[in-house]
Amino acid sequence: MLKYCVRCVMPHTKPDLHFDDEGVCSACRSFEKRTDIDWDVRRAELVTILDRYRSKDGSSWDCIVPVSGGKDSTYQVVRMLQLGMNPLCVTATTCDLSDIGRKNIENIKSLGVDYIEFSPNKKVRAKLNRIGLTQVGDISWPEHVGIFTIPVKAAVQFGVPLIVWGENSQNEYGGPAAASENNVLNRRWLEEFGGLLGMRVSDLVGMEGIERRHLVPYTYPSDDELKQAGVTGIFLGYYIPWDGYSNALIAQASGFSTLSTTIEGSIVNYENLDNHQTGIHDYFKFLKFGFGRATDIACLHLRRGRITRQDAMEMVARHDGKFPWAYLGKPLEQILEPLDLSVEEFVKICDRFTNKKIFKVNARNELIKDRHGNLTKINYDNNE
Ligand SMILES: [Zn+2]
Repeated sequence: MLKYCVRCVMPHTKPDLHFDDEGVCSACRSFEKRTDIDWDVRRAELVTILDRYRSKDGSSWDCIVPVSGGKDSTYQVVRMLQLGMNPLCVTATTCDLSDIGRKNIENIKSLGVDYIEFSPNKKVRAKLNRIGLTQVGDISWPEHVGIFTIPVKAAVQFGVPLIVWGENSQNEYGGPAAASENNVLNRRWLEEFGGLLGMRVSDLVGMEGIERRHLVPYTYPSDDELKQAGVTGIFLGYYIPWDGYSNALIAQASGFSTLSTTIEGSIVNYENLDNHQTGIHDYFKFLKFGFGRATDIACLHLRRGRITRQDAMEMVARHDGKFPWAYLGKPLEQILEPLDLSVEEFVKICDRFTNKKIFKVNARNELIKDRHGNLTKINYDNNE
């Protein structure tokens, strides 16, 4: 049985989520604690840190802002400009960039910033997508590594020490720049935050003809290089209250585009717009843990009082974990093409990563699917 938080709609199977004696999840508890935070104090701390790292003579950039082109990164750029910073924006191109994603990247450039886009070798990347999907059930492994390694490499390369990240979902912590000592980014920090998801970069050498030289974009600078450049970072979400929805509103007011309808498997139209592979990524989360993007989004709105738990449950039951026949309008068959996988082979991989304890099976222990290939969870709330 899946056990759900009594306040939000997240199941207990989510990695690193804990439930207390009252059945409330740790994400709801930490949201509750936000009301104790003095945001004016935090904002003043942010201003102090930015002043410390701002280029004194204007000979270099003030900070690096890693940007995907999504609503949060558009928001980060808008905030940095408001705070008088001269950022160098760095994009690690997504694995399968959508048209609307490209449009939003162009929009960030038009906000008035210097901008670099780094695109890792597509052939190698397709192999990494395939290895990630078949070995650990995560097609987005190279993307999740690259969004951390590439901006850090840029910080070293251009000698810009401060990296301004977005939300810190793991820890209530401002980032290394906030620490009075040990404020330089090191390998330990990178490994904690730049999640390698149980597959290390070095493990890949030798797989499908991959050599070390193919993995340069996915490898962090050495501790010595980081120290020499003084590379450090902060999480903006620690200093300014973070809400994806209000970030989207602010981003939209600065030219960010959304879809006219909700995104496949989600309940909103303003996020995860930039990569056609994201539908597969989110679907595997559903297969492994019984929750997908609709659950994530519903919880965020629910905690902020914008919908009731009942509303959230209904939205999740209707939209979460649908078989990803298409994402952002691109058919699955075409999304799988560069990975050299057929839809049939993909379904087999899905079945291999599906947790049969949380989905309905027949008498022969085979997964029950409807005519669209969709699974049914064994329970959608606690008292079923
Ligand atoms: Zn909860």
